[in-house]
Amino acid sequence: MEALLVTHPSALAHDAGWGHPERPERIEAAVLGVERSGLEVATLEAEEIDTALLELVHDRSYIDGVRRFCLMGGGAFDRDTSVVQESWAAALHSAGGGITALTALERRADAVAFIAMRPPGHHALRATAMGFCVFNNIAVAARYLTRSGAKVAILDWDVHHGNGTQEMFLDDPAVLYMSFHQSPFYPFTGHVDEVGEGEGEGTIVNFPFPAGTTGVTYHDAMERVVLPVLEQFGPDHLLVSAGYDAHLRDPLAAMRLEAEDYGSMAAALRARLGGLPTVFFLEGGYDLEAIATSVAATLRGSAGAAKVFSPHDVPSHTAVVTDAVVERLRPWFDL
Ligand SMILES: [Zn+2]
Repeated sequence: MEALLVTHPSALAHDAGWGHPERPERIEAAVLGVERSGLEVATLEAEEIDTALLELVHDRSYIDGVRRFCLMGGGAFDRDTSVVQESWAAALHSAGGGITALTALERRADAVAFIAMRPPGHHALRATAMGFCVFNNIAVAARYLTRSGAKVAILDWDVHHGNGTQEMFLDDPAVLYMSFHQSPFYPFTGHVDEVGEGEGEGTIVNFPFPAGTTGVTYHDAMERVVLPVLEQFGPDHLLVSAGYDAHLRDPLAAMRLEAEDYGSMAAALRARLGGLPTVFFLEGGYDLEAIATSVAATLRGSAGAAKVFSPHDVPSHTAVVTDAVVERLRPWFDL
């Protein structure tokens, strides 16, 4: 299997502020991870997105406001989300990476795409930048696909809940959104009871795990919920909000995943879903070594070259979260 590395130099010029954990070196670490995966790598330039495509999930007035704010020199959207002039180009290429990846996958059946770009996206709302995110890159890609009738599954294993992505697809039956996250934790959304609204009821799945959760709980949740739900939903594409801040080395969060856990999850997805076109979007992750080793493991898993861990001795205080999710999803899925 071939790895398509989608990136662009503009990602290195976006500056989130002095000493900010969301820094350019993260891109270098992710690129190193792709190279260390052992897969054959083809590097593609992330295209600059047409702002008309951003309008699939963002308000025109917000897009224009971000452009003006950046081009006038930038500043802070909120306490932890800042931009500079160069961030405008970075944000356009970061969102464009999804389009580049999807277009390339159409021509390559046996490939997987990894987008190493920043700023990340899953907290960005329709008209609000937050949580280091400006445009919701994965949401743009999902809606780009559903426009032509495709069904899309988004798996978000970043340690934070992707509140922006959930919000955008709350009532959309064509997009399944599933998230593993530390709870209670920023942005304080993503409860088990948030299952979608209207026609989208049953297409939002949240696992709010407590601090200290280890890989075995994730593998248990994959087996009992994520994989069967994916099979029953039957997506045409899988998009992954691949943040690596649930890694035990991460300085911002308190989960305890190891690189091989990401490899196992990716391998399980591959084993159960076969050759479903898959795109990984870098979201968070603030320890450079954790990013590099976890990205490499993810791609090895996607290529079927990692072991699928079978869950055993799952701690009861985390298993109850998955139990609650199973109960909550019964009206829509056979679990
Ligand atoms: Zn995160």
